[in-house]
Amino acid sequence: MEEFLSSYKNILQKAIDIIWDNIKWTVRRQRNYYVVKRGRKKVKRYYHVERLIPRIPKSREFKRSLRNELLRNWSYASHYVDSALKTAYSMINSWMRNYIKGRRKRRKPNIKRRFVRVKETLYTYRDNKIRITIRPRELYLEFDLSRAWFRRRIRGHDLGELILKDDELIITFRRPLEERNTTEYIGWDLNKCSLDGFSPKYGWIRVDLRELYHIHRVHEVKRKRAQSKTSKKPSFKTIVSKHGKREKNRAKDFIHKLTTQLSRAFPKALHGFENLEKQGMYNRSRKHNRDVAKQNWKTIVQFMSYKSRVKLVNPKNTSSTCPMCGGRLLKLRKGQVTSCPKCGLTLDRQLCGAINVYLKMCGFPPSPSIFYRSVSRPLARLMKRRRSALMRGGSGVTVNGGETDDMLPMNPEGVEVEVSQGGYPLTFADVR
Ligand SMILES: [Zn+2]
Repeated sequence: MEEFLSSYKNILQKAIDIIWDNIKWTVRRQRNYYVVKRGRKKVKRYYHVERLIPRIPKSREFKRSLRNELLRNWSYASHYVDSALKTAYSMINSWMRNYIKGRRKRRKPNIKRRFVRVKETLYTYRDNKIRITIRPRELYLEFDLSRAWFRRRIRGHDLGELILKDDELIITFRRPLEERNTTEYIGWDLNKCSLDGFSPKYGWIRVDLRELYHIHRVHEVKRKRAQSKTSKKPSFKTIVSKHGKREKNRAKDFIHKLTTQLSRAFPKALHGFENLEKQGMYNRSRKHNRDVAKQNWKTIVQFMSYKSRVKLVNPKNTSSTCPMCGGRLLKLRKGQVTSCPKCGLTLDRQLCGAINVYLKMCGFPPSPSIFYRSVSRPLARLMKRRRSALMRGGSGVTVNGGETDDMLPMNPEGVEVEVSQGGYPLTFADVR
C-alpha cells in the first residue's frame, strides 16, 4: 500500500511539474489602487503594475504526450494515470483562480499528503464489498461494508469516487433524485427577516428568518470591535477571520436545517426563486437592504437545489409590479403594504413579491382573470377553511406549528388587506 500511495503521489507531482513547465506567461498591465485618507475624505490612488498571466496547456496532443510520459514505469492499473492527470489539472486550475485574485504567489503547487483518487472504473461494489483494482488481475484491495455503521443510511445510494489515504478510505455517495411528479408550484421571495412563499394550495407561507439575521448582527458587532483593535495590533487579525468563519458556519447550519425542512414539507413542489445573477441589474433600490441577505439567499437557493427541484425566474420588477394589472405599485405604511394606483389592489409587500415569483414561474402575465383564479380565489377558500401553512422558527422552522395554525394566510399583523377584482369584491379586513 505504501508503495502504491507513494508512486501515485510521484506521478501526480510529475504531472503538475510538466504542466507547470509548459505554462505560457503573458504580461498584462493592470491598474490597482490604494486608499488614502485626506481629512474625512477617502481618496483612491491609482498605480499600474505588470502582471504575469498564465496560460495552461490544454491541447489534446499535450495531454496525450503527458499521459504517455506518466505511463512509463507505471506498474499499476493505467486508469490511475488518468485520475492523476485530472487531479493535477484541477489543482493547477484552482491555483490559477487564486493567483489571478492575488491570493497565491507564482509558485508551483506541491503535493504534501499521500492520497489516491479512485475513479468509478477502478472499483466494483458487490455484496456490500468494495473491491479496488490496484494491478489488474493481480492485486486488489477489498473493503467490507456489511457491518459498517452507516449501512442503513446509504441504502439505495450509488457510490461515487473514492479517495484512498494512508489510514482511511473516503467514500462518496450519490442519492438518485427520485422522479417526483411536481403538481405544486411555490414562488419564494426573500426579505431581511422572513422568507415568503406563495402557492394556491398553501396560500402565504412565512418562514421566520430573524435568527439568521440575528447571527449576522451579532457577528457584525463583534467584527467591528475586533477591527477597531486590528489597526493597533496586527495579532487581532486572526480574531477577525475567526469571527467570519464562525458566522458563516452558523448561517450555513441554519440554512441547511431550513432547506431540509422546506423540502420535506413540500416534497412534490417545484420551488421558484429569483435568479440572483441577474438581480443586480434590475433591483437597484432593493439592493441596499439585501447586501447581507444576498449571500444567504444564494446559499438558500443552492441548498434547495440539492434537496428538491428549483426553478429560477427573472427578478425584473418582481417587487414593483402589480400582479393583477401589471401596473406600478406604490409603497404604503412604511413600505410594509403596497398598493396599485391603477386597479386599487392592496397587498402586503412581501406576499406580493412571492405572488409575482409564483406567476412568473408559471409563465402567467399579470391579468385580472389569472389573478382571481390563482391568487384571490384560493386565498379566500383557504381563509374559509382556516387552514394555513404558516411557519414559525425557533431554532429551525416548524411547519404548521400549533400556535400559528389558527392564523390566517394573509397578513399576520392584522393589517387590512383588500383584494378587489371586477365583479368579485373580496375584502380580507380584520382577518383575526
Ligand atoms: Zn394593479
